[in-house]
Amino acid sequence: MASTATPMMKQYLGLKAEAGDCLLFYRMGDFFELFFDDAKKAASVLDIALTARGENNGQPVPMCGVPVHAAEGYLARLIKAGCRVAIAEQVETPGEAKARAKREGTPSSKVLVKRDIVRFVTAGTLTEEALLEPRRANMLAAVCDVRGTCGVAACDISTGAMMLEECIPERLPAVLARIGASEIVAPEGWATRALGENAEMVLRAVSTFSSDAGEIQLKAIHGVATLDGFGGFSRAMLAAAGGLLAYLDHAGRGNMPLLLPPFARSHDGHMAMDEATRASLEILASQQGGRAHSLIAAVDRCVTGAGARLLAEDLSAPLAHKPAIEARLALVQYLFSDPLLRGDLRGLLRALPDIGRALGRLVAGRGSPRDLGQIRDGLSGARRIHDMLKDRADRPAMLEALLPSLTGHAELTDLLGSALVPSPPTERQNGGFIAEGYDHALDELREVSGNARRAIAAMEARYRADTDTPSLKIKHNGVLGYFIEVPAKHADKLMAPDSGFTHRQTMANAVRFNSLTLHEEAGRIAEAGGRALAAEESHFEELMEAVAARREAIAGTAAALARLDVSTGQAERASEGEWCRPQISDDPVLDIEAGRHPVVEAALAASGERFVANDCALSSNDRLWLVGGPNMGGKSTFLRQNALIILLAQAGGFVPARSAHIGLVDQLFSRVGASDNLARGRSTFMVEMVETAAILSQAGERSFVILDEVGRGTSTYDGLALAWAVAEAIHETNRCRCLFATHYHEMARLAETCDALSLHHVRAKEWKGDLVLLHELSEGAADRSYGLAVAKLAGVPAPVVKRAKSVLDKLEKGRAETGGLAAGLGDLPLFAAALEAAEVERDGLRDTLNSLDIDALTPRDALDMLYRLKREAGDN
Ligand code: ADP
Repeated sequence: MASTATPMMKQYLGLKAEAGDCLLFYRMGDFFELFFDDAKKAASVLDIALTARGENNGQPVPMCGVPVHAAEGYLARLIKAGCRVAIAEQVETPGEAKARAKREGTPSSKVLVKRDIVRFVTAGTLTEEALLEPRRANMLAAVCDVRGTCGVAACDISTGAMMLEECIPERLPAVLARIGASEIVAPEGWATRALGENAEMVLRAVSTFSSDAGEIQLKAIHGVATLDGFGGFSRAMLAAAGGLLAYLDHAGRGNMPLLLPPFARSHDGHMAMDEATRASLEILASQQGGRAHSLIAAVDRCVTGAGARLLAEDLSAPLAHKPAIEARLALVQYLFSDPLLRGDLRGLLRALPDIGRALGRLVAGRGSPRDLGQIRDGLSGARRIHDMLKDRADRPAMLEALLPSLTGHAELTDLLGSALVPSPPTERQNGGFIAEGYDHALDELREVSGNARRAIAAMEARYRADTDTPSLKIKHNGVLGYFIEVPAKHADKLMAPDSGFTHRQTMANAVRFNSLTLHEEAGRIAEAGGRALAAEESHFEELMEAVAARREAIAGTAAALARLDVSTGQAERASEGEWCRPQISDDPVLDIEAGRHPVVEAALAASGERFVANDCALSSNDRLWLVGGPNMGGKSTFLRQNALIILLAQAGGFVPARSAHIGLVDQLFSRVGASDNLARGRSTFMVEMVETAAILSQAGERSFVILDEVGRGTSTYDGLALAWAVAEAIHETNRCRCLFATHYHEMARLAETCDALSLHHVRAKEWKGDLVLLHELSEGAADRSYGLAVAKLAGVPAPVVKRAKSVLDKLEKGRAETGGLAAGLGDLPLFAAALEAAEVERDGLRDTLNSLDIDALTPRDALDMLYRLKREAGDN
């Protein structure tokens, strides 16, 4: 890069233009180099030195680089930081470049090795073990809109899973929240903010979201004439698939990753949850962002990465179909009741490699001999599990259905077993992975080079004796190949013209030589070695083909193993924590005896404290519970634990309770604790109201809702009024099962008018002037709020608490004298009655207006009429 447009600079800029907003990794020898702004960005993310190389337009060119052998680690960090990277490799050797220059008649000093972008590395298109988290799926999603319907295509190319669905635009955020993609592809012109904050967004040409192209590609990938065998796909789904496949094609530069037949996902079979509910229930991540303190962290006892990934999927999309839930529960029950079987199974599963991901890498062309070894070991392990289960009696239906998938790979495992060494390496270019005895020609080549190596070792001993130089060594390096080396002071003996040695190189302390015999033996090694490498390489290709040919069956085995691991893990978790099998029914009930919150319970256990179990009993005539009691009394915990118990049950697992009878829930809503969402520019109160609005407009008789402290973020009067009206609307209109925590004592009066509403509170008592929170749920309204006692407990200085007490006394005295807030509320008409009265009033006004002949009115009459109407409208 000495002057403005060197050939290399031109090549670089051309590739950079192709890379667009991706960082360009430009291969130069053993390094990937980055230049200009890319270099600045990467140097700051990776915390590596920013240097300069040559000049461009008179300015030094910023540069940084990472060694090729360590590139994966750096890529991982760049991807985590939200970057995308284009990899430009050398696609010819310097020798080939020279030969080309000669053909083209360019001076060889001007010739430049050809480079090409071979792949785009983006968050959603990873397959490398080092770049993926073993226990998390890595989803790539594409979204589009076809005449008002959103199409969504999602895949995890590390395992090939692919799913298509459609939804109304309002539900898109909920669908995307469930999928949890790390990268989302959308047509140009889409607002990126609407699609969630945790995913990288990529906008692509609208034309790539074509349902025709999607259909054609899917048919081509799976070699079918029609997609009917995979399910029914709408135009919107296919258009999203088109966008997804076009992006994968672009990212892999024409190299398609592993994609299994897509399935169409319907919404009826699953329990719906919106984004806010997912976040507030902390299903896969806590509000702080990590897995720690999330539901899955408290539940996951899977011993394989694939199991953990499937469990996350189950918890993200609980079922709403009784037979499907029962099928999962029956398998958990089977494994729960047989601890010995469970232990054996976990032992076998724990040893299994992640064959789904190994398959993904092999099919994407990024596989290694180690991946082949993993497929071999995983499939044989599956076979052992099959044999352990096959003769057992009373197998539940789901196990029966899984069994065939665990076997049937004998031919492939035999092939891999005889072809591969026990622990194949991760690098394929150095060979050494094909086992002895698999290919006689290869064995012979190895023998030739082995003999030659032995001959060289013998030669070293002979030369030492002949030259009387015990420090003589025969060495090897990449530049010289084999050579003889002696310390400088002994060099003279070998320099003699008749010594039989030829001089090659003089170093500071040593001199290097060659000899004819050494040259011959080295030639033998090189030739046999090269042919052996070529032979291994072609075996690798064959074996990879053999694996790829059975991709669907292998993926089926991986899925069956993952399901077994999930069920075994659930049984294990249940036995660890005395969890029970929930009873599922279609009645609108929720009857939990001694329920617990798995996350809070685990946190308390860690500090040696005991969790107080609580009952919950909702039914159609007692479906709305108002839960009062002091702050820190355990209201939120109680609300959440019931939502989580429903979620765990409908995901097909046991639940933390003594017994649980759960009427199927079609939609779960949670509005818990106002967490600020200032990043989105909404105040706490606004967020609370948006979420409450969503619940009021969507919840139905089969829904379950938890509402915590509605109306907290505004004044007492506003807040109470809103909470009151929301509770009434839930009771009268939504008619769902609902737990409603509130600190407004006044709301207890709702029990007088709402017959399916009942009052409950978390107990507390004052003992010797100190507050004791019992975390125990009791019937009836809370007697007082204990706010000052909680403040004292929290360490608010005594004078402040004392002062607050005197203010409180004043307020309470004033309220007693004037009748106060609660008394006023007693006079309110019922919710329904108020609605009716407003309706009657509006009808009256309409009639009066309709009967008016405006043209016949004098100005004076008109004014009188306005006064009258205003009086009738209630302003007197
Ligand atoms: P609230 O919503 O009434 O303010 P929380 O539900 O947030 O109270 O609970 C406050 C704390 O009390 C929790 O963090 C937990 O440590 C403890 N806690 C809550 N419920 C229980 C329970 N059932 N048993 C034991 N401790 C509990």
